[in-house]
Amino acid sequence: MIVTLRDLVVEYRNGGEALRVLDVPTWELAEGEQVAISGPSGSGKSTLLNVIAGLLVPTRGTAVVCGQDLIGLGEAERDRFRAAHIAYIFQTFNLLQGYTVLENVLLGAVFSPERPDRARAIALLERVGLRQRLTHTPARLSIGEQQRVAIARALVKKPGLILADEPTGSLDPRHAGEVVRLLREACRENGCALALVSHEAGVVSAFEKKVDFLALNRAVSAAGGGP
Ligand code: ADP
Repeated sequence: MIVTLRDLVVEYRNGGEALRVLDVPTWELAEGEQVAISGPSGSGKSTLLNVIAGLLVPTRGTAVVCGQDLIGLGEAERDRFRAAHIAYIFQTFNLLQGYTVLENVLLGAVFSPERPDRARAIALLERVGLRQRLTHTPARLSIGEQQRVAIARALVKKPGLILADEPTGSLDPRHAGEVVRLLREACRENGCALALVSHEAGVVSAFEKKVDFLALNRAVSAAGGGP
């Protein structure tokens, strides 16, 4: 398994009160597997991704990701873990406007143990249809093209897992479908697992494996229904 979660609980403290936002008894994702996670805003999807990425330490439970038990790791170890194994794709691309498309992709490998590999970066940009755009800055690209740069940037360091948080949130439905198709194909070709969060039915329906976050996260079911 690339992700194994057991009895995972995340609580935020507000003074003396504990606000429980995540309570996931068990969840797994296999190597190379792809899953779409859907659920309403505020149901804890980003919190789950942040735990898997080692950005957030859960209140309790077990999280083993890419062979690494994240519980008990210090912040620096979690940073190194993330740099080596995990890539994030966001709704708002987070491309650096002062750098070219190719430089942005190479920056995806800066902190990873893999040396930034120019030939691989160019091959990935070719794969996402941007071979003619290597020296352009992101601002000259369409929104859909910018998200394709982010896909190449995510894959350049050969991560075991890509976490995509509403990656089509800025795109119209046609470009959303195209970006998700490319992302899924590129992950498959690179042996990379994909956990994609989306509230768009058209995006989620493309995946064979789907998770309804309201059913998975007991903290939401427990809180739901009240005034
Ligand atoms: P989603 O990604 O499904 O929209 P989030 O994971 O962003 O949901 O948030 C889940 C819940 O946790 C929300 O109610 C949010 O307000 C709460 N939350 C997130 N971060 C914090 C924080 N640092 N302190 C307190 N509450 C937080």
